[in-house]
Amino acid sequence: MSAVITLHPGRDKSLRRHHPWIFASAVSEVKGKARSGDTVDVLDSEGQWLARGAYSPDSQIRVRVWTFDQSQVIDNGFFIQAIEQARMVRQPVIEQSQCNGYRLVAGESDNLPGITIDVYGDVIVCQLLSAGAEKHRKKIVWALSKCFADATIVERSDVAVREKEGLQQLTQILHGESPEPVVIRENGINIKVDVLQGHKTGFYLDQRDNRLAVAQYCKDKDVLNCFSYTGTFSLYALVHGAKHVTNLDVSDVALRTAEENLALNNIDAQRCTQINADVFEKLREYRDQQRQFDVIVLDPPKFVDSKASLNRASRGYKDINMLALQLLKPNGILCTFSCSGLMSADLFQKIVADAALDAKRQVRILQKLTQAKDHPILASYPEGFYLKGLICHVS
Ligand code: SAH
Repeated sequence: MSAVITLHPGRDKSLRRHHPWIFASAVSEVKGKARSGDTVDVLDSEGQWLARGAYSPDSQIRVRVWTFDQSQVIDNGFFIQAIEQARMVRQPVIEQSQCNGYRLVAGESDNLPGITIDVYGDVIVCQLLSAGAEKHRKKIVWALSKCFADATIVERSDVAVREKEGLQQLTQILHGESPEPVVIRENGINIKVDVLQGHKTGFYLDQRDNRLAVAQYCKDKDVLNCFSYTGTFSLYALVHGAKHVTNLDVSDVALRTAEENLALNNIDAQRCTQINADVFEKLREYRDQQRQFDVIVLDPPKFVDSKASLNRASRGYKDINMLALQLLKPNGILCTFSCSGLMSADLFQKIVADAALDAKRQVRILQKLTQAKDHPILASYPEGFYLKGLICHVS
């Protein structure tokens, strides 16, 4: 028998709108034994059945919903069904971008809370971030091996958020042989992905569409790619005719991979300079040297990890945007991003507007960008929206 969670009166509203989280403060009673990750039934204060989800005693998000269908059992078949559904959602993306690297499962947006699954050719990388995901690891691996015969399955659950769920960080091979770094292909471009050592699951798939959008502004231009990681914005820019690109990142490994990526795409290494430096410092140095660029890409890591850090993060975003604006030639293009889910698109746009005032530059937004289509946003879970980008003309 599953344990049963009863909610306080009035705390059923978001659940009735199929939002998949139940906060600890909404729970009035737990009947039966519920351990970390166990499947529990959730009732409203009148005893009416609402949902079935995974219990997480250590997290403020006490239950993450697996299903709003009372007849649904959380078994192997449930995971197969969810993965097949997710795969269907990705089909148009795979065709449009001609890619073999894509996000197959984006957690809550695919009805699999706390589970991220990325596909890189024959290698599948999972992040299991919640107590429920942890509990069902075997079923998830089984379902993946059924849906993707012959794939190697790797777990990259080496992420700090697991600790909020009372789970340890870990990296392991779940199925098949230990993988070599893979080369994926998207929009005609080859990209090396190190699934074991790379950031997150190895690569930032969410910028795929934006790399193509940004590349349209780069023909014959001198481009600065800040927070370049393995230099994929640069590859797109160079393939689309950029004169020269400078990659800026603090990770030596990432910059070395960026060099390998040039070779994988038959691009002359002379067209791309790798600089290992802190962006905040290097942009100031360029400003003091009066160095200028035609196009600047700013794709920093997540600066906001809690509401409390929003102000400090906003200052960080403003700082780099102001500096970048100062380095742009007249008629320059700024491509600026924020992947912090807690920062709204409105606030981000205001920060760029403030930066423009301080830099004494006029900025016109040409395009608003978002995460790639394999990172869809479930209508009932707006928190799934996190990546915002602006392509700006700067005069
Ligand atoms: N634009 C990349 C993804 C960026 S991820 C892409 O398209 O794939 C963020 C990157 O910023 C990481 O590679 C990290 O090493 C780098 N980074 C973080 N802080 C930095 C800093 N202060 N200066 C330079 N690079 C930084």
